[in-house]
Amino acid sequence: MTLKTTESSHYQTSEEKKEVLIDVKNVKKYFPIKGGVLKRTIGQLKAVDDVSFTIYKGETLGIVGESGSGKSTLGRLLIRLLDPTEGKIMFQNADITHLKQRQVRPYRQDMQIVFQDPFASLNSKMSVEQLIEEPLIVQGLLNKKERKARILEIIEKVGLRPSDRQKYPHEFSGGQRQRISIARALVLKPKFVICDEPVSALDVSIQAQVLNLMKDLQDEFGLTYLFIAHDLSVVKHISERVAVMYLGRLAEIAPKNRLYENPLHPYTKALLSSIPIIDLDEEVGKMKREKIKLSGDLPSPANPPSGCTFRTRCPQAHDRCAIDRPELIEIEEDHFVACHLYDSN
Ligand code: SF4
Repeated sequence: MTLKTTESSHYQTSEEKKEVLIDVKNVKKYFPIKGGVLKRTIGQLKAVDDVSFTIYKGETLGIVGESGSGKSTLGRLLIRLLDPTEGKIMFQNADITHLKQRQVRPYRQDMQIVFQDPFASLNSKMSVEQLIEEPLIVQGLLNKKERKARILEIIEKVGLRPSDRQKYPHEFSGGQRQRISIARALVLKPKFVICDEPVSALDVSIQAQVLNLMKDLQDEFGLTYLFIAHDLSVVKHISERVAVMYLGRLAEIAPKNRLYENPLHPYTKALLSSIPIIDLDEEVGKMKREKIKLSGDLPSPANPPSGCTFRTRCPQAHDRCAIDRPELIEIEEDHFVACHLYDSN
């Protein structure tokens, strides 16, 4: 199975062709840490800490980072499955930051999510038809006959058979279950889909099939994806731009070819140097990079280092890194990095 690449995507680099779908400004998500007999708040877990970026209509923005970097929390904030602590989230020029869950419901039609584990995310007691119909019922869309027609249509689009409607999730393989999850997300005809590690639980051969399906569906329906993954080879193939997260903050964001060929942030360099040579992506395998071994573990987001949060593991850390927090600055067109090595101040 050959993976389809994103070279002929909707995303354009010239300003006039880019249309903003989501704009995120200084978003934070702190979870209270409770302790003591009275369960008082004794600290804050800074899962997402002052993140700003834009997602353009029709593109796939990949987000990579170690587990605990905050990428899944960020995805859930964007579609308001979580309430942000601070900051601003704009969706199609509408401020959705502080909407109550009841007010978010109309936006659910436009913003959907595909989870990593289709076993956990699909109710095993519901048939495929019920699973795909449920979002339509919740949104109050279409009459029964129209819903049946829509379900048949989307089942066919994701590569399942009409007779699969009466079956239950346990009767399918992992890849087929993920097709059901995708059908459930797309039956509402959303504009924006968060793909949270959608292929990482699947075999490599099945990963390619599901990624190609997602690419085809994106082209057909004009979807915009935020693709969250820890696998840099998968992200490279599906994304036009890639953002690198470390400990709740963005370290670097750039068009994918620029990021993979000329990474600037020491953390991005270390991540890329550790890509294993796998079938999914021959090109990356061919890149002979010197392996950069990071010392230590990811610090706790409950007690992040001062200044640059990467400084405790950075081979190029210097005195200023412990004091000043580096801002995300644009080094060249569309290439942003948060590191004092590129900050002339
Ligand atoms: Fe390393 Fe300093 Fe750059 Fe942080 S700011 S990545 S510690 S050089």
